[in-house]
Amino acid sequence: MKKKKNSWYDYLWIATILYFILGLFNVVFAWLGMICMAVPLYFAIKDGKKTYCNKYCGRSQLMDLLGNRLKLSKRKECPAVLKSTTFRYAFLIFFMTMFSMSIVTTYVVYKDAATFRQVITLLWTFKVPFTFNYHGTIPWVSQFAYGLYSLMLTSTILGIITMVFFKPRTWCVYCPIGTMTQGICKLKAMNLKSEYDHDNKAFD
Ligand code: SF4
Repeated sequence: MKKKKNSWYDYLWIATILYFILGLFNVVFAWLGMICMAVPLYFAIKDGKKTYCNKYCGRSQLMDLLGNRLKLSKRKECPAVLKSTTFRYAFLIFFMTMFSMSIVTTYVVYKDAATFRQVITLLWTFKVPFTFNYHGTIPWVSQFAYGLYSLMLTSTILGIITMVFFKPRTWCVYCPIGTMTQGICKLKAMNLKSEYDHDNKAFD
């Protein structure tokens, strides 16, 4: 069988690695993580499809690469609880609460620069001093960057842990961005269906 030719977007896993490396040099680069949050939502709202997940997600490509090509995954079926709607939406709420907290912290630093802390928080628990990648940028800009870098690193760590023990792309099962885009796509599909039903009734 003829091998499918790779496209540029098949290499976005490099961008994922680059994101973390750049963040080590200067924390402000962590702001680029907003692209990974905004673009999937943009596609879901615009097309009603999970275009980002299916094509452009560097993180899922990275998990695929580590788990399948480098054979770091045990490839076991993930526990049913991770797949359950309750868990997925609970995790989404938790994730968004943590994201909102980092916005609140940023606002506090904006009001009082003395509260600025050069730390990242791993797994929403462990505070790790990260002073080497701060180069004197506006404190609130850097504070948000530390928060976003923490969130991106934490979700990648969770993704890697679940990749090792279960199937390579297990993170996608409970990824908050995936849950959000899926919800948007479902709402759009319901909306289209009700418009279709309405139009059909008009012709009855
Ligand atoms: S579910 Fe999350 S990690 Fe998986 S492809 Fe979508 S955005 Fe990427």
